[in-house]
Amino acid sequence: MILIKKLCRTLDLTDVFKMNKGLEKRKKIFLRYADSFNLYIKAQGGEAIYGEIGGKIYRIDKAIYVCPLCLRKFTIKAVEGENPLLTLEHVPPKALGGPSKILTCKVCNNTSGKDLDSAIMAGLKAYSFFTGKPHSSIPSRFIINSKRFEGELRYRGKNEITLRLNENYNSREVINLPPYFEQSEGRVNFILSFPSNKRFRNAVLRVAYLQAFTLFGYSFVFNDNIEKIRNHLKDNTSSLNVNMLSQGFSNDLVGIHLIREPKEVSNYLIVLPYQDADSRYNVGIILPGPGQEKWNNYLSYPEFIKNNFAGNDGNMNITLTTLMGYKGVREEKEAVLHFYTLWE
Ligand SMILES: [Zn+2]
Repeated sequence: MILIKKLCRTLDLTDVFKMNKGLEKRKKIFLRYADSFNLYIKAQGGEAIYGEIGGKIYRIDKAIYVCPLCLRKFTIKAVEGENPLLTLEHVPPKALGGPSKILTCKVCNNTSGKDLDSAIMAGLKAYSFFTGKPHSSIPSRFIINSKRFEGELRYRGKNEITLRLNENYNSREVINLPPYFEQSEGRVNFILSFPSNKRFRNAVLRVAYLQAFTLFGYSFVFNDNIEKIRNHLKDNTSSLNVNMLSQGFSNDLVGIHLIREPKEVSNYLIVLPYQDADSRYNVGIILPGPGQEKWNNYLSYPEFIKNNFAGNDGNMNITLTTLMGYKGVREEKEAVLHFYTLWE
């Protein structure tokens, strides 16, 4: 009896179970996308048994997984071990309710993943506050009679906003607040710490990029237009516009769509749900389809919206082909070229 107890203590079975489950999941995704990679190479070169990617030649009977963000190549060994080189990434981020998982390499997952997740959370929080969602808050600095206080503004609903100080102020300072109000004749200035819109947009773009990869596989990754999107994600100084639509998507529009009309903005539209503690937001991101025309549409999108939809309550009259419940390369082998053929 004692021996069994001791054994149970040293060998926590739930940990082992979790580890195996993670490994199984990684293996399954690895093999599915390695297969999709092979099919893509084959589709490019007929019955050829060799594929050339990035100047290197690979035998296609050898399973290769290409990290969709940095294009580094990995064999099945990369999902094994305690510290695997290919790791599961939730899309959208786990903290924001992301259900689907994909493998990205440890470097891509660690260096940008966590930073970008926090950028999305901060962006959504601010969005809640400015659209008047009750109980939403935004970090703020208050200046009362030239003295600065750190804290947050909280919207309580019915046009009531409360001002909260950070917990690190001691009670003495808080008790001493009223005199400041008196001296300033009730005037309080605020500096709102609005999160970086650029970081927020890039983070949402990265999520949409990964989601499109889960559906289209490598025909998406190796497309010229998508390469430009990927380069933008890598380059902090890039001025490429991120075309985001943050309002007006009902839950039944979550998924992937082809914008057919207006022709001038024809491209892919990906709507993904983000869920934080209080709210759910459906955010739409435009991703370019294949070909020069689609890329030109992508670049001219902001100008087009400005010229055609200003003063129209932001309502856009668009014709979509909606791919509801579309599983793409996750389930169908033929889907390997859908990134192109869906437009035909
Ligand atoms: Zn990578």
